[in-house]
Amino acid sequence: MGEGAAIENDVMAAGYTEALVACPECDLVHSVPEIEDGEQGHCIRCGSLLYVRHRNSLDRSLAFAITGLFFFILANMFPLLTFELDGQSQSNRLIDGAIAFMDAGYWELGLVVFVASIVAPLMVLIVLISVLLPMRLNIAPTNVKVQIRLLTHLKPWAMSEIFILGIIVAFVKLSDFADVSVGLSLVAFVLMVAAVVMAYMTLDDSAIWRRLKELKA
Ligand SMILES: [Zn+2]
Repeated sequence: MGEGAAIENDVMAAGYTEALVACPECDLVHSVPEIEDGEQGHCIRCGSLLYVRHRNSLDRSLAFAITGLFFFILANMFPLLTFELDGQSQSNRLIDGAIAFMDAGYWELGLVVFVASIVAPLMVLIVLISVLLPMRLNIAPTNVKVQIRLLTHLKPWAMSEIFILGIIVAFVKLSDFADVSVGLSLVAFVLMVAAVVMAYMTLDDSAIWRRLKELKA
């Protein structure tokens, strides 16, 4: 990296500079030309995708994040699964999965389930909304660099919700002896996972920095 890298260090740290972008495959550094929304930039050496300018990226990501938060609340309000055996029924909430592992002595596993099913998605949704909602209202959000970095770190956790779903499915299959009914919260949880994934997929980091620059200008 040359002297230029020091100039926009903040933005660099977040993996993006307005002027330069490195190819993820062959590391060739390109200057970023002005492209229109909906267009893609490719590496001139190997043809790998360098960046995409999604149409209305920030608004769409915000819409998915707000939808996700709504489903998150629903997912935590109602039973996830209800078991019925010999006339007795037992309902499980989302948090009961983590509690059950901890009660059984598997506290590390319980902690992982707790983080993956509740803490990580909630943090992702709150960070997305706290960055994107002010921008929508023409206010420059604070601590954007830290929040974007947090989003990047949380991404594998947010995606691991899919494994949590796998555990739930396995749980249902193992419960052949009991009548298992799916609660409203399980549906809400699946929709929340989909909303989180879509919020990440539609989010264009470079659009955040462009919008931030506009707001601070
Ligand atoms: Zn390349």
